[in-house]
Amino acid sequence: MFPPFAFDPVDRSRYGEYPYSPSSHRDAATPVIVSFEARVGTVFCMTHESAGEPTRIVVVGSGFAGFECARALARRLRGTDARITMIAPHDYMLYTPLLPEVAGGILDARFVTVPLSEALPHVELVKGSVDSVDFGARTVHVTDCEQGVEDVAWDRLVLTPGSVTRLFDIPGLAEHARGLKTPAEALYFRDQLLTQIELAERDTDPSVADARRTVVVVGASYAGTELTAQLRALADEAAARRNLDPAKIRFLLLDAADTVMPEVGEKLGGKVLDVLRSRGIDVRLETTLAELGPEHVTLDDGTVIPTRTVAWVTGVTAGPLIDTLGLPTEKGRLTVRPDLSVDGHPDVFAGGDAAAVPDPKNSGSVTPPTAQHAVREGQALARNVAASLGVGDPKPYSHRDMGLVVDLGPGFAVANPLGIQLSGFLAKVVTRAYHLYAMPNAANRWAVALAYLTDLLFPRPLVSIGLVTDSESRFAAGEGVGAQS
Ligand SMILES: Cc1cc2nc3c(=O)[nH]c(=O)nc-3n(C[C@H](O)[C@H](O)[C@H](O)COP(=O)(O)OP(=O)(O)OC[C@H]3O[C@@H](n4cnc5c(N)ncnc54)[C@H](O)[C@@H]3O)c2cc1C
Repeated sequence: MFPPFAFDPVDRSRYGEYPYSPSSHRDAATPVIVSFEARVGTVFCMTHESAGEPTRIVVVGSGFAGFECARALARRLRGTDARITMIAPHDYMLYTPLLPEVAGGILDARFVTVPLSEALPHVELVKGSVDSVDFGARTVHVTDCEQGVEDVAWDRLVLTPGSVTRLFDIPGLAEHARGLKTPAEALYFRDQLLTQIELAERDTDPSVADARRTVVVVGASYAGTELTAQLRALADEAAARRNLDPAKIRFLLLDAADTVMPEVGEKLGGKVLDVLRSRGIDVRLETTLAELGPEHVTLDDGTVIPTRTVAWVTGVTAGPLIDTLGLPTEKGRLTVRPDLSVDGHPDVFAGGDAAAVPDPKNSGSVTPPTAQHAVREGQALARNVAASLGVGDPKPYSHRDMGLVVDLGPGFAVANPLGIQLSGFLAKVVTRAYHLYAMPNAANRWAVALAYLTDLLFPRPLVSIGLVTDSESRFAAGEGVGAQS
């Protein structure tokens, strides 16, 4: 799956001699010095903090990078006394690329949450958030969901706290818009759309009814475009069941840029624009929001759009933990070296959306915040953390972009696997097959496959379960950013 890496020299002065071999590790009482030149070329290891104690590896975050790192570390360090602890506010890994389909009513939220206890049996889970890191004491301060606190010690620290929705200083944005980074936010959009359509049916004021049936999505990158397409399909189903003219349900997709989905290139981007417009979606480019109220938005050209449903999916910034570290960052992402370690902190590593990882394929730039990179950075993190403990060989991170798959609702998708441009039904098959392949857990894969089969055979279920309250769906509750409710 992964392209062979060109072996760039890692700065070996950072690695010392380490008393390690399987037998000596188990018998920590009598450490011996072993050099591995003969067996695997040159591998150097960090001295171990306190002989006899298990080596404590702490992974912060259970997203793509943290999950993959912990899973690969458990494999690489099997049989050693290393103890891997994952700290995350949830007991699952969230497969974010399918959140638009949760919002669109095709997938149940459980199907895109991979249970950590099942998928990472050899990893200790601490359910909580890391508020701060003490590099001197080598501890992280953790607060759990009941505000209980503890300090967790580490010998190696892996920071993969991901990203949150980037909010701008637009009046009313944090209060009246919602993001799409959590299951709660995805469920909010499904419930909100269906509830507003139902309420509009009974509303005696036609202008209020129209506002209820208007959805504004800001951000025409893949996540925002997928969300718009999925909600449009759900709305069409609702209209059909109510003999309502689907054109009565308005969708506006806005973006400050002059193209949709720049990630897939001009040709596929053009096809996407045509399909969105053919489905009655009002795409307005070089347009964004100037202000939001509870029942309207004002565009930057002064146009006022009455609406009660606004999605803000314009991009991400590194998780708030990064700001607390006092370490160098690049556009808010933690600066790391090619081997994903943090400069000046050889026992601290970072990856995923939260880290500014040098991209050897585009020198001078850092890798984009995608799951594709996060997964592979997770594997590179495991490799280099293990190497710092004397297991294996450190390698710099490198990855050739494999392309993107974007599901755009009934019968249509675009994809460019390995640069091959696909659109329409074939791309749809490739897209769904890719997600079934990439879903890191058999039970979830099965559930998603069955849901796809159900989607082929039956119409989308029009149920608003109401699991998520208004305040739970806000940025503050779900992502820890924006105004308090
Ligand atoms: C709707 C949507 C669709 C997407 N589609 C695609 C796609 O098709 N292809 C693609 O390549 N990418 C896609 N992405 C991007 C992809 O989701 C991210 O790049 C990826 O999730 C980054 O992985 P990560 O591990 O760095 O962070 P995340 O997956 O965000 O995980 C971060 C983890 O850290 C935890 N955390 C945060 N702060 C703390 C703390 N203080 N203490 C403890 N834990 C903490 C979080 O709870 C979470 O578990 C999509 C994103 C979204 C939102």
